[in-house]
Amino acid sequence: MNNDQNILTDQFGRVHDYLRISLTERCNLRCFYCMPEEGIVLRPRSEFMSKDEIVSIANTFVALGVKKIRLTGGEPLVRNDAKEIINELSKLPIELAITTNGILVDKFIDTFKANRMNSINVSLDSLQENKLNKITRRNYFKSIYSNIQRLIREDFHVKINAVIMRGVNDDEIIDFIEFTKDNKVHFRFIEFMPFDGNKWDWSKGISYKEMMAIVNNNFKEKVSKIEDKKNDTAKNYQIDRYKGTFAVISSVTNPFCDSCNRIRLTADGRLKNCLFSGSETDLLTPFRNGIDVQPLIIESIWRKKERRSGMETITQFSDSALHSNNRSMVSIGG
Ligand code: SF4
Repeated sequence: MNNDQNILTDQFGRVHDYLRISLTERCNLRCFYCMPEEGIVLRPRSEFMSKDEIVSIANTFVALGVKKIRLTGGEPLVRNDAKEIINELSKLPIELAITTNGILVDKFIDTFKANRMNSINVSLDSLQENKLNKITRRNYFKSIYSNIQRLIREDFHVKINAVIMRGVNDDEIIDFIEFTKDNKVHFRFIEFMPFDGNKWDWSKGISYKEMMAIVNNNFKEKVSKIEDKKNDTAKNYQIDRYKGTFAVISSVTNPFCDSCNRIRLTADGRLKNCLFSGSETDLLTPFRNGIDVQPLIIESIWRKKERRSGMETITQFSDSALHSNNRSMVSIGG
């Protein structure tokens, strides 16, 4: 197989070299903006990619130029064979990273180190125990918080993701930034996004502009803009003399699709060429029938829409009918 660097280029010239693989739809949290109230229908294991299928299909993407793989979920670490999958994937010529809710991290520190997985994203929507337990509908604040502290102590590159919601945790934006004063972490504020079952409406969201107004009003001239990397989804900042940094991910009010290099593979082996695409390409069934899935991948990327799966304007983006055929966040993995 040739390692063609640019074969996964879409009609807009965007090269796709970053694959996010959801290992499972299961999760040990029930965040209300991610997991539908009624939960999701748990399906038979046979409908999901096995370890070997994940590694083989990932290998096909690497042959097509993928250089970075991020493991997501549900919660990727609840999968029984997560360690084996990490051990196998880290043998590929890629950067391997993970997004986790942090609860089980202490059981994986050695696995991360053994596989050069240094970039760990942890979701934490509040620094207040009661509030986090309310958002997640579970009581794991202490283990998540102590695992974040441990990752920092052990020099992992830690990013903390918080979905900012009006009247829920928008009152903590300054506290989150103060957390970066003595902690070398990268706090990222994510605009609340619409997914199936999360009862989204933009009145519950806080825009990038509003967040920065709160920040600038509090920290004034001490806020410095730092350089955004190529393909970065985040707009990055730092408070003078703070150890860590913070950023805003503005998919709703200020999308960053122009430099999108991301592809998603769901736990049941479907390719999503955009986070918001309702149409998917089944790779698992043809793969199980011995069919080469490369052409399917190339074709799907070529068909990718320019912005947010065709939802260009905020009006279109706010039209729940346009989101209804997408999945819930828990079965995409962000
Ligand atoms: S909305 Fe779709 S096209 Fe835009 S950055 Fe996200 S995944 Fe890429």
